[in-house]
Amino acid sequence: MQIERIPVLSDNYVFLLYDPKQKIAAVVDPAVAEPVLKRIQALSLDLIAIFNTHHHADHVGGNRKLRQRFPELLIYGGVEDKGRIPGQQIFLQEGDTVEFAGRKGQIFFVPGHTRAHIAYYFPPVTAEETGELFCGDTLFAGGCGRLFEGTPSQMVNSLGKIRALPDNTRIWCAHEYTLKNLKFALTVEEDNNALQARYQSVKYDRDRGIATVPSMLGVEKQTNPFLRWDAPALQAFTNDKNPAKVFGKLRGMKDLF
Ligand code: ZN
Ligand code: FE
Repeated sequence: MQIERIPVLSDNYVFLLYDPKQKIAAVVDPAVAEPVLKRIQALSLDLIAIFNTHHHADHVGGNRKLRQRFPELLIYGGVEDKGRIPGQQIFLQEGDTVEFAGRKGQIFFVPGHTRAHIAYYFPPVTAEETGELFCGDTLFAGGCGRLFEGTPSQMVNSLGKIRALPDNTRIWCAHEYTLKNLKFALTVEEDNNALQARYQSVKYDRDRGIATVPSMLGVEKQTNPFLRWDAPALQAFTNDKNPAKVFGKLRGMKDLF
């Protein structure tokens, strides 16, 4: 399974999964159709699936146009998103699996950003491979999604499922927000050496227009404050130990940052 990142709109990433041998493709969260169609054409692929993480327009905006061009494709999304994802045919819940190009994807129910959000996790098949997590707007590189339809405790529970995955999991999140996220992270955990180093390297990349997605989950665990509700430094900073409270305070500050 090959994965390509297609930058669209101001800061969205659409992910194209494909198998060059079978000439089939699947797309994660097509905000728009045109750039996806262009890549699919260039690679002579048949688009067979759309994997949506949640119903926001910058994730599903290309669904209908893609299906007009590929009428047989199947549109997947969370069961709780019924009625909100254009053209949705498959309604997924925690524990379900999807298949693409011989890889099995596990579905995680990760409410918080929206009440219906799901993530797709493709575990590694061989020892050399990484796991691949498509998490939409739940976890970002250095940050997490805003709580539009969920509570801090729901989001901690959702992020806890992601945090339990192996360190060598690539995080394919849907936006290039990393630099701003890390700027915020430094304001709440300034003595974190791994975070300081990551900020410098992301700053270097962004100054040169280089994408910072995917990131590795192992790095997120060390540097992303929204996965670190039990880090002593963040418990001290928020003056709390309850995971949902620590997380909620940090999320509230980030909303105003
Ligand atoms: Zn969203
Ligand atoms: Fe989004």
